[in-house]
Amino acid sequence: KLAEFAAIRDLKAITKDGEHVHLFMNAGLGLDVDNLDASGAEGIGLFRTEFQFLVSETLPTLKEQQDYYRNVVETAGDRPVLFRTLDLGGDKLLPSGHQPEENPALGWRSLRFALDKKGLFRRQLRALCRAAEGHTLSVMFPLVTKPDEFREAKALLEKELAFGRKHNHPAPDHIRVGAMIETPAFALSFDELEGEIDFLSVGTNDLHQYFFAADRDNRMLSDRYPIIDRAFLRFLQDVAARANRMGIPVSICGEAAGQPRMALIFALLGFRHLSMPASGVGPVKKTLRSVNLSETLVKFQAALDNKKSDINKDLLNLLKDYV
Ligand code: PEP
Ligand code: MG
Repeated sequence: KLAEFAAIRDLKAITKDGEHVHLFMNAGLGLDVDNLDASGAEGIGLFRTEFQFLVSETLPTLKEQQDYYRNVVETAGDRPVLFRTLDLGGDKLLPSGHQPEENPALGWRSLRFALDKKGLFRRQLRALCRAAEGHTLSVMFPLVTKPDEFREAKALLEKELAFGRKHNHPAPDHIRVGAMIETPAFALSFDELEGEIDFLSVGTNDLHQYFFAADRDNRMLSDRYPIIDRAFLRFLQDVAARANRMGIPVSICGEAAGQPRMALIFALLGFRHLSMPASGVGPVKKTLRSVNLSETLVKFQAALDNKKSDINKDLLNLLKDYV
């Protein structure tokens, strides 16, 4: 199997009927980035910046953050890297700076925390701006819940760019600013950001948890709320359709994208950019290259629309020749 994946490493995930599904890898540590060549991914579709904070006893300095990001940008070279800004809280607590909360997953986490800790957040944005000198900087904000939170975060990034220009600091050649779709509220309101946002990325780990009100790590619930669920898949299809209609690139970057069956389902739902753990790229690529997407789509849509059938059973059966 590994030899099979190695043989297609430098090929793209193009389906039998010519649809190109762009595959990226997720990373969070410099070590992960070293796998980029071997993975066969087109770039890094999710760089989880909070890891540097979580493995350190003190807050990383501006210089430390800048050096860290610079190394990622340089290793990637011409390949795109999507930096996700600090996603702390919930299941990822800083050694200090967080109060215990009754419901951490529903609490003061991620972008909410960053927007309230402007000094911390601006330092990170400054480090990203400096690190991407001579490159395109793609930044995305996690757990956006209301369009205004995206606007507030983007305004801080713009402040940092202006600050850098004023003080003759290095700056990126181009900037792309995006948001993660991780809450149902934002999945239903990102349309309001037309003209203000460059891309979207669905974090299925969190979106699934908030869609079903079911803790992403609670094993007592995982069988009851599988990801292959008609309501959830229709919801994702609607997200893809609206983003595609608006011409906003939309990707999926949750763990599920690394499972060949789910990657194929996401492609059938209309997603053309997937980011996944490095180990998933080979298997997903192999599967997608073996599929005629438009032919499969007819039956897939029928299964999705047939509200009386067991979607899990139907899809397992429909996709069994591929995965
Ligand atoms: C997600 O929620 O799907 C995601 C990619 O972010 P994280 O797993 O880091 O919360
Ligand atoms: Mg998330």
